[in-house]
Amino acid sequence: MTRSTPLTPAPLTLGIVGFGKIARDQHVPAIAATGLFRLAAVVSPHGATPEETGHGDVPVFRSQAEMLAALPGLDAVAICTPPAVRHALTVEALRAGKHVLIEKPPAATLTELGLLLDAADTAGRTLFAAWHSRFNAAVEETRRRLAGATVRHAAITWKEDVRRWHPGQDWIFAAGGFGVFDPGINALSILTEILPGPVVVRDAELRVPANRDTPIAAKLRMEGVAGSAVGTVTAAFDFLQEGEQTWAIAIETESGRLDLTHGGSRLSVDGVPVLVEPDAEYQGIYRRFHHLIADAAGDVDARPLQLVADACLVGRWRTTDAFHW
Ligand code: NAP
Repeated sequence: MTRSTPLTPAPLTLGIVGFGKIARDQHVPAIAATGLFRLAAVVSPHGATPEETGHGDVPVFRSQAEMLAALPGLDAVAICTPPAVRHALTVEALRAGKHVLIEKPPAATLTELGLLLDAADTAGRTLFAAWHSRFNAAVEETRRRLAGATVRHAAITWKEDVRRWHPGQDWIFAAGGFGVFDPGINALSILTEILPGPVVVRDAELRVPANRDTPIAAKLRMEGVAGSAVGTVTAAFDFLQEGEQTWAIAIETESGRLDLTHGGSRLSVDGVPVLVEPDAEYQGIYRRFHHLIADAAGDVDARPLQLVADACLVGRWRTTDAFHW
């Protein structure tokens, strides 16, 4: 008897490690919508229920090690934990022969990130450090328009209400939790994608609540390197923004002004909207992950993390009012 080849290959099996807000809000729906992966397991230290995973038949494990031992045939994992524990989990998954997708920020330190690249290389598996904000058509369109342009000035305004978007997430204000750089690094991931040249951080001011470890607000001043087509870039990050929430980058070039707003999903040129797109960032992430695996490739861009680390190195640290939820 001859077997016929299936027209579409079976989805790859995937385990989600860290079943919090982003796993539930974005990863699970994107996995279902794209159909390229099948959610085969969830790791939740506190023990998410099958109802919470949205799939009654998906097993829930208390640790990644338990999942890897129970499901040796698993193809891939998505690490959706806070950044502080990501390195050890990623190395563990790579050593077990899994392809690994990691949420942003990709690691707690630059050294950790470098070692993850080595681990992926040794394992011969795909490592994809996803910068979700880059998966907007308006970001790609902005990159295209700025290629070959001279950017006089760019201003990032990334102001949101931490109580609304990260309710009760104490890890964000603990050492290694990034504070306001947790959302701010999304702006830097867009910036490094769209600019026609690199920038360096010249100056920063970081405001840390008296009872916490990480900044609740930050201001950065960056500059293009000598001879490049990029002038100055400022960034204002704030975690205490009430009312209207702002995730915007205004760019002045020699030939006009571009406004990338709503987290990178809308683009206006000289005040005229040219691209407005519904949010499909995470579907794009899973399509890219699948492509990378098929091509036996990886994708890890350290630049956004480097800018945050540099801001912490050159910045002036100031203590501000205590923060309570
Ligand atoms: P969260 O709601 O606090 O969820 C984090 C989850 O990780 C928790 O469920 C926690 O489980 C789990 N976890 C912690 N240590 C673990 C370990 N060793 N093994 C397995 N699971 C572990 O945080 P989040 O908002 O989803 O953010 C997670 C990451 O996604 C962050 O890096 C963040 O920057 C990124 N992200 C978040 C958003 C957003 O809008 N929230 C958007 C894009 C990206 P327990 O509850 O059992 O402790």
